[in-house]
Amino acid sequence: MSDVAIEPIRAFDDNYIWMLVRGEDALVVDPGDAAPVLAVLNQRGLQLRAILVTHHHADHIGGIGELVARTPVPVYGPARSGIPGVDRRVGEGDRVFAMAGLAPFRVMEVPGHTLDHLAFYDGSRLFCGDTLFPCGCGRVFEGTMAQMHASLARLAALPATTEVYSAHEYSLANAVFALAVEPNNSCLQARQRWMMSCRAEGHPTVPSLIGDELETNPFLRVEEAAVADAARRAAGHPLTSPAEVFGALREWKNRF
Ligand code: ZN
Ligand code: FE
Repeated sequence: MSDVAIEPIRAFDDNYIWMLVRGEDALVVDPGDAAPVLAVLNQRGLQLRAILVTHHHADHIGGIGELVARTPVPVYGPARSGIPGVDRRVGEGDRVFAMAGLAPFRVMEVPGHTLDHLAFYDGSRLFCGDTLFPCGCGRVFEGTMAQMHASLARLAALPATTEVYSAHEYSLANAVFALAVEPNNSCLQARQRWMMSCRAEGHPTVPSLIGDELETNPFLRVEEAAVADAARRAAGHPLTSPAEVFGALREWKNRF
């Protein structure tokens, strides 16, 4: 809906707490820290109405307790992990009517980075936490490589115009790795130049578009011959499925 503004609230070194604002109402996604959220709400005279949570890591949930102590609001998050403060436990296919005037979010379970990881999709925007980043993806801490690959493939299948709101600013490092995988990808080269100028001016590189990720993110391009060849060379042995290519890429990035 066009009267909704979406703004990043910076937290810690490189987190983005996404805030959706409609009139005087606000919703935040993954408030890892309460202080910067409270500062924005107070400065702007906004009323917190709801919190969405993608996964259980501290940098995504650390501010929930203080926020709900000041303003009791519904907190929507993973059913399976029992995050303190999450009182609306949701899972695959659930619809979240989080705030008046917002389109409902469809909940997608996207295990891999963690087993409880959720993404929230409202038909044009995706809040994906630490699963998908510009030119990169989250580390696979709890799930299997095959789970993470399947989760990313689901996100990749959303419309190309979908806006992707990731929870960290990792783009410059991700682009360097992506270019090690695909040095001759001209879309990627151009995107890296854009990311560098963006960061030099202090602007976020997030959100991105699914369409841009399809052209430049190696983790969504495991079926491209150039990506599969690079992953096989890095692994030093044949890779027999897209999920194996994904796993080899992710392990390469971990030691990159
Ligand atoms: Zn995380
Ligand atoms: Fe995180």
